[in-house]
Amino acid sequence: MTAQDTITRADTIKMDGADPIAHLRDRFALPEGDIYLDGNSLGALPHGVMERLEVAVKDEWGNGLIRSWNDADWYPAPQRAGTAIARILGADDDEVIVCDSISVNLFKLLVGALRMRKDRKIIVSEIGNFPTDVYINQEVADIMGCELRCVMPEEVESAIDDAGIDLALVQLTHVHYKSGRIYDMAGITKLAQDLGALVIWDLAHSAGCLPVQLNACNADFAVGCGYKYLNGGPGAPAFVFVARRHFDAMNQPLRGWHGHAEPFAFTQDYKPHPTIDQMLTGTASQLATLALEKAMEVFADVDMTVLRQKNMALGDLFIALVEQELDGMGFGLASPRDAERRGSQVSLTHENGYAIMQAVIARGVVGDFRAPDILRFGFAAPYVRYVDIWDAVAHLREVMETGEWRRPEFNEKRAVT
Ligand SMILES: *Cc1c(COP(=O)(O)O)cnc(C)c1O
Repeated sequence: MTAQDTITRADTIKMDGADPIAHLRDRFALPEGDIYLDGNSLGALPHGVMERLEVAVKDEWGNGLIRSWNDADWYPAPQRAGTAIARILGADDDEVIVCDSISVNLFKLLVGALRMRKDRKIIVSEIGNFPTDVYINQEVADIMGCELRCVMPEEVESAIDDAGIDLALVQLTHVHYKSGRIYDMAGITKLAQDLGALVIWDLAHSAGCLPVQLNACNADFAVGCGYKYLNGGPGAPAFVFVARRHFDAMNQPLRGWHGHAEPFAFTQDYKPHPTIDQMLTGTASQLATLALEKAMEVFADVDMTVLRQKNMALGDLFIALVEQELDGMGFGLASPRDAERRGSQVSLTHENGYAIMQAVIARGVVGDFRAPDILRFGFAAPYVRYVDIWDAVAHLREVMETGEWRRPEFNEKRAVT
């Protein structure tokens, strides 16, 4: 890079001035002085959520008590939150519902989908998929007498071909949690469906980050996270998508009263609800669902294509600054360089990654660490500014130059990394 190409802090301030969605940052309650680059793990707190919860707790629960299931419209909250999420996933309003966790919803979808392909025995997934996806895939394969084939990301297409008409299911995470690499949703879906198989996408790192087009890709099923880019709060419930054409055939195994066609008929025999409601099991975690529903208002008028342009630009800026400022300090790039192939995060490798991350966190630059050597920086476009990227890299540089990361307190492993 030549001297005249050097990116300055003033350049990044100029970029913020030209940012068409800069105003979205005002919708969040962000701690003064922090540079929050971990919205991919726990999204920031949107304004209005606390007030919504206060009303829900004090008035609706405290005064309304049981009446609030009807009077405060608690009961349809999973559907309402699902509709808000459907709109940024390219799904129909009634194809998404909010409930449980990704892990639990994945179990429901996997068993349900395998029951739709009883004569087939092979599930294809990826080596290095998020652990919960791997564990649930393996357990379901065992229960259902199927074979789980986990292959390297670049071998997924050939593994699908090899499985041929024995292929029952493909289960992949659309945007990889560590590297940020993106799968071709339309291409893989078609490849598997042409063989008569079904596909389950995990959208944990896609929802709220890029314009997912579930129906344009003819997707069958998907799950995703409420507490990452959707900002629903710690442990927010997950969402589940079922294409309408599968409503009749889906037969999910966690049959509970809320998935019943008539929950309040209290009958002894199970009859699944004919709509997306069949994916429910038990009573919704009401306060958490209401918080997620409120948080989704952030996205109500956001053009996901514009938001996506910004997170690609933030990632490109970060990579350029890492090369400009941290050259020769031992950092490697663990994400695709091409922004089109990368989600809303950039991961670096460094042999002292854990301690370096602790040291920058102590300076208020919050990213996270994933074993064995990944420093992960997420760029939630609604609230991360270009100047934040400049400042974050400047802190990284100081931590390296001063050797601050060597301090003992930054080298003690804590429970959550
Ligand atoms: C965060 C994440 C999960 C989390 O699953 P939960 O059961 O909701 O805790 C699952 N899969 C992927 C790919 C993730 O990134």
